[in-house]
Amino acid sequence: MLRLPQLQVARPRTVEEALALLGGEGALPFAGGTDLLPNLKHRLLAPQTLVSLAGVEGLSGVSVDPGGALVIGATTRLHEVAEHPEVRARAPALAMAAGLVASPQIRRMGTLGGNVLLDTRCRYVNQSAFWRKSLGHCLKKDGAVCHVVPGGQKCVAAASNDTAPALLTLGASLTVATAAGTREVPLESLWKPDGVYNRRLAPNELVTAIRVPAQAAGHRGAYLKLRPRESFDFPLLGVAVRVDAAGGVVQSADVVVVALQAVPRRVTGASDELAGKALGTQELEAAIVAVGARAHQQCRPLPNVPGDPDYRREMVPVFVRRALRAAAG
Ligand SMILES: Cc1cc2nc3c(=O)[nH]c(=O)nc-3n(C[C@H](O)[C@H](O)[C@H](O)COP(=O)(O)OP(=O)(O)OC[C@H]3O[C@@H](n4cnc5c(N)ncnc54)[C@H](O)[C@@H]3O)c2cc1C
Ligand code: SF4
Repeated sequence: MLRLPQLQVARPRTVEEALALLGGEGALPFAGGTDLLPNLKHRLLAPQTLVSLAGVEGLSGVSVDPGGALVIGATTRLHEVAEHPEVRARAPALAMAAGLVASPQIRRMGTLGGNVLLDTRCRYVNQSAFWRKSLGHCLKKDGAVCHVVPGGQKCVAAASNDTAPALLTLGASLTVATAAGTREVPLESLWKPDGVYNRRLAPNELVTAIRVPAQAAGHRGAYLKLRPRESFDFPLLGVAVRVDAAGGVVQSADVVVVALQAVPRRVTGASDELAGKALGTQELEAAIVAVGARAHQQCRPLPNVPGDPDYRREMVPVFVRRALRAAAG
């Protein structure tokens, strides 16, 4: 049995108290703990204090601001995000993605903030300390080599958070509280291509909310994922799409893929192919096939997560086409 290390758990009641605690040496925020606790058991992290966000006032719940933006508290459970009528109506891709994370039990513990800030994953690192030591440590933790890309100088562990690509297609941002004040961080600039730590956010900064701006008229979206067990697993591939079709004609579109590398990847040229095509026409279907071909050309899965990379690559256009048809249908 894998055991947790000895550590302190602090239970602040306000954002200010949480920030003061996070300013201390070796402190980390702790939301649902569904990613953090397995990583602690695997000795991938060694904090001295976990700052529980469970009792912090004002961090949970879904609301719509006067401009029509969704404001989702960082500790809102994934189950609530998936089921909330305003999220389903205004950001269908996000509701679908939240509803496809892990299993029902984990979605009732795991939070949207924790999902956005999920650590990268790799078949060679999400293992016990004994397993990793036996193989030889790698760049992500305690070593100097990469087992995925021999000779590689950069960790390519995969961004594996299902909600990340959906939030990117929606133009979402994070509200981040720090000791120096609050700032808004567009998700476009959050991730960096370094699997050791792929977020441009210090571990002691606190995400208080996720903001999804009001979408264009005729907004549609979808998220689909490939995984070994439909009931449970992380994505081997995840595809989020946005199709804005005012008056039945596509005005603009976006496609973002996750679980390839350390950052979610946007498929370029999707809007060029789809814009101007009327819903339900052969012309649109041909454009959807063309976007799938672009995605196949641009996306090259690595052997960083389970699943044969060639198979995962062949599934890229299949899932892009299915997601676009689901959104446009
Ligand atoms: C068996 C299993 C299957 C899983 N399958 C999936 C899957 O299919 N798809 C998927 O995306 N995930 C999956 N997960 C991972 C995890 O359950 C989810 O990503 C979940 O949303 C994480 O949220 P959490 O609240 O539990 O995060 P935590 O574990 O509490 O935190 C995750 C990280 O975010 C930081 N953090 C959390 N909240 C904040 C905040 N407000 N501000 C600043 N930092 C913060 C923590 O310090 C930590 O680094 C799975 C986990 C397990 C155990
Ligand atoms: S991608 Fe390479 S360096 Fe990163 S966790 Fe995997 S084996 Fe380690």
